[in-house]
Amino acid sequence: MTEQAIALDPNRAELEELRANIAQAKQEEYRRTHFFRVTHKHGSGSVLGGMISFGDGKTRGCTGTLELLDDGFRFKTEQSQDSRRDDVEFRRSQVKKVELKDQGQRVHIETTSGNFDFYAGSSDLQQIYNALTR
Ligand SMILES: [Zn+2]
Repeated sequence: MTEQAIALDPNRAELEELRANIAQAKQEEYRRTHFFRVTHKHGSGSVLGGMISFGDGKTRGCTGTLELLDDGFRFKTEQSQDSRRDDVEFRRSQVKKVELKDQGQRVHIETTSGNFDFYAGSSDLQQIYNALTR
């Protein structure tokens, strides 16, 4: 079938393949720059203002995908360590403050309805920070 198609129109099959490759590369590039696997901290795991902590202080939480949107971001839980599951979306106008913490290992996002702390690799968090503070 492919050989026949090429025989009928030598350029067409190659062109179709090229188009498909470009579309796939664009999709991968989009995912790489817009979708981030992050850990979301739920409870601080500490009491008395952090004077006493148990575990590493971020053991309870969920992992999920943070997606950068044209105007804001979205976070959806994929796996939760407690009963909480998040599925939230915020416009840029709802994001009050974005800060990189812990030597870039954590991004702290303050919104009009709650604060969020996400953990991921520092280059991913830098991209999130840049997009939300641009
Ligand atoms: Zn969560």
